[in-house]
Amino acid sequence: MNVHETEKLYAAFEKEGCCREEKPEAADIIVFNTCCVREGAETRVLGNLGRIKHLKAAKPDLIVAVCGCMTQQRSAAEMLHKRCPFINVITGTYSLALLPNMVKAVERGEKFILDLEVNETVPVGANEAVRSDNVNSFVNIMYGCNNFCTYCIVPYVKGRERSRKLADIVNEVRSLLDRGVKEITLLGQNVNSYNDGENDFYALLSELSALPGDFWIKFMTSHPKDLSDDVIRLIGRQRKLANYIHLPVQSGSDRILKAMNRRYDTAAYMHKIDMIREYIPDAGITADVIVGFPTETDEDFRATVDLVRRVRYNNLFMFIYSKRNGTPAAVMDGQISEAVKKARIAELITVQAKIARELAEKAVGKTFLALCDGRGKNATAKTYDDRVIVFDDGGEDYYNSFVNIEVTGTKNSKLYGKIRK
Ligand code: SAH
Ligand code: SF4
Repeated sequence: MNVHETEKLYAAFEKEGCCREEKPEAADIIVFNTCCVREGAETRVLGNLGRIKHLKAAKPDLIVAVCGCMTQQRSAAEMLHKRCPFINVITGTYSLALLPNMVKAVERGEKFILDLEVNETVPVGANEAVRSDNVNSFVNIMYGCNNFCTYCIVPYVKGRERSRKLADIVNEVRSLLDRGVKEITLLGQNVNSYNDGENDFYALLSELSALPGDFWIKFMTSHPKDLSDDVIRLIGRQRKLANYIHLPVQSGSDRILKAMNRRYDTAAYMHKIDMIREYIPDAGITADVIVGFPTETDEDFRATVDLVRRVRYNNLFMFIYSKRNGTPAAVMDGQISEAVKKARIAELITVQAKIARELAEKAVGKTFLALCDGRGKNATAKTYDDRVIVFDDGGEDYYNSFVNIEVTGTKNSKLYGKIRK
């Protein structure tokens, strides 16, 4: 999601006549778009700021701005200002579209601007974006989150759920299709609760998949409590809705799911998985999992491992629980030691690696519909169920075209294939 926010920032700055520089040394303005979902992301920002400090010393006119969800938290903004006094602008998630104006104010002589105003009426950035990829384009359909999972900072830094109007989304998608984009990824923290006052997610997907042209639609993230059986059936019968669902489970233990305030249990989650397997037989399913949530016992962790073994995800994003100040879980009793968290994630990574290898081996000999998104000798293509296949293009350029690729081999669960005409 942050990648797309950054694309929108590029568009806002390009409108003001700026162009993109690949190297920080060549830039007159450096913007850090931060994330605070896990501690690691926050630590990296400090490291990256440290690395450009000398540039500012050598070029006093260089403007450094920091924005995004980390700095939406006043405490983080103040900490950065104190530790990196060379930063000129600090803003959060709500005022991204206004960032070029803030930079202009610095050019006019202002020393430091701090703008953390909460404004939920302005969608983050203009809806225009400079897309960094011609094959896939991200399209925000909603902002914010109302779920308040007890570990998660997102609702505090991105505000309440608000959906864009269906007509605006359809227009944006239509213009992307006119430009030749073939894969649209709809974005939202909880896309299933999309509602613009008149239309729900089912209506949006129906409308978008009725647009003419050769393309497919993917979306993320689905919340298990809100992914409806109707949407699953629609994906199954509508060719333009790709057979791919990212359905974060977070834990396989009902007790932990309750403590996380996820509002589903493993039986309800597995019911969704069964529905997906029934109506979308070749679906690619991926998920996020957190290990080491406060009070997680060995037994709870075993339940997570069991669930992962039962579902057999194509890909699993595994995270060590990271304490986020201001969230209920941060002050829960029973915080788990780093050593235990690390041992648990190592075990889960091993379990998932074996599953991924087995699924990759099962794909050998099968032919997949895929969209080429990489050129050259070892070109890549993304399948209808969102797997990546590396193939030798034999000198022909298939970039941004749909192709059939037969998987001919695997290595470390990576798929390799050949074009079938
Ligand atoms: N809205 C999405 C994604 C939110 S953030 C959803 O509900 O699934 C992406 C992922 O980061 C989450 O799914 C979760 O697995 C992980 N995450 C969020 N907060 C975390 C924390 N405090 N510690 C570790 N992982 C976290
Ligand atoms: Fe965070 Fe939960 Fe909202 Fe996802 S649904 S953004 S994990 S609070």
